[in-house]
Amino acid sequence: MEYLAIADEIRKLGVRANADNPIDAKKALEFGAEGIGLCRTEHMFMEQERLPVVQDMIMAESEGFRQEALNKILPMQKGDFYEIFKIMDGKPVTIRLLDPPLHEFLPELISVLMEAEQLKITNSLMKNLVNQSPLDNVINEKMAIIAKIRTLEEENPMMGLRGCRLGITWPEINEMQVRAIFQAACQLKKEGLNPIVEVMIPLIGMVSELKLVKDDLVKIAAETIKSYGVKLDYKFGTMIEIPRAALTSGEIAKEAEFFSFGTNDLTQMTYGFSRDDAEGKFIPIYLEEGIMKENPFEVLDQTGVGRLMKMSVEEGRKARPDLKCGICGEHGGEPSSIIFGHTIGLNYVSCSPFRIPIARIAAAQAVVLEKKQ
Ligand code: PEP
Ligand code: MG
Repeated sequence: MEYLAIADEIRKLGVRANADNPIDAKKALEFGAEGIGLCRTEHMFMEQERLPVVQDMIMAESEGFRQEALNKILPMQKGDFYEIFKIMDGKPVTIRLLDPPLHEFLPELISVLMEAEQLKITNSLMKNLVNQSPLDNVINEKMAIIAKIRTLEEENPMMGLRGCRLGITWPEINEMQVRAIFQAACQLKKEGLNPIVEVMIPLIGMVSELKLVKDDLVKIAAETIKSYGVKLDYKFGTMIEIPRAALTSGEIAKEAEFFSFGTNDLTQMTYGFSRDDAEGKFIPIYLEEGIMKENPFEVLDQTGVGRLMKMSVEEGRKARPDLKCGICGEHGGEPSSIIFGHTIGLNYVSCSPFRIPIARIAAAQAVVLEKKQ
């Protein structure tokens, strides 16, 4: 372990972890994380006992019903955040508001269609045999799910209704998450701990999106803090994952206290590749043909994606000199990408807990390489 301690003495980049639950947060600390750079809240929604409530929220036909489901989710999310902040006491925790398209929380269309067909067959057999249709209600519920899945269907979900667009369409989802975050943090503060909260708004392409979402949420944060009567350290920031956000970073930084480069999406959108399709189909051919030297989803493309990042950091800091910048895409745990992050002046990298030792070493190597030049 001694060489890790030496690396820590040398490095300038902070090293944080991507962790979505208390177990990963603990693991991250063991590996030497200095905070959480990305807590993906959707993973909390996916847990078995929560998914039905999340589905109720999605299926809700009115704001009232949606709010009812959200009221059930809030204490669960608050509990998660409470544990994570407690483990990370005194260290920053960046919590990303809901990001994926909502259809990801619903069952596959084909499986619900098949279930509905089977129920209809059983129901009509019962009707013929005993003149009863006991499954009418279940069938109606299945048909409602089918209709909802169809309304949420998108040609290209990764470029569709996700990220901040969800929060703009259904502000009450973000509002619930922010209440849960600040209630958890304020409670810990009352208990004498020191939670450091960073709320991250995903998939911004325009400053006007960020402003609309943030202005609403800042009010909720302030109200919650006031109701607990505590003082709390917090920031609102955004992910830079869309080339337009990188290109307009000067404007965006006026509304964001930190930038976190989501290089998975930024790579996807800069190349115009859909990651799942590209890696499965043509990137292997591109590598074989020498069109690309490395898979850009593993090793950051410094020439294109990196150029956008460099520009974004520079423009962002012109508008807000103390803008904190980090990276939370998978590249945050890849050595050459970490070294690049150092050269463009990032404050930290964030990666999976298991990659933290690698990140600590690479961050130190970046300093040594810089001195050699
Ligand atoms: C990213 O895009 O780099 C990111 C961290 O977000 P996602 O959850 O979409 O990978
Ligand atoms: Mg992303």
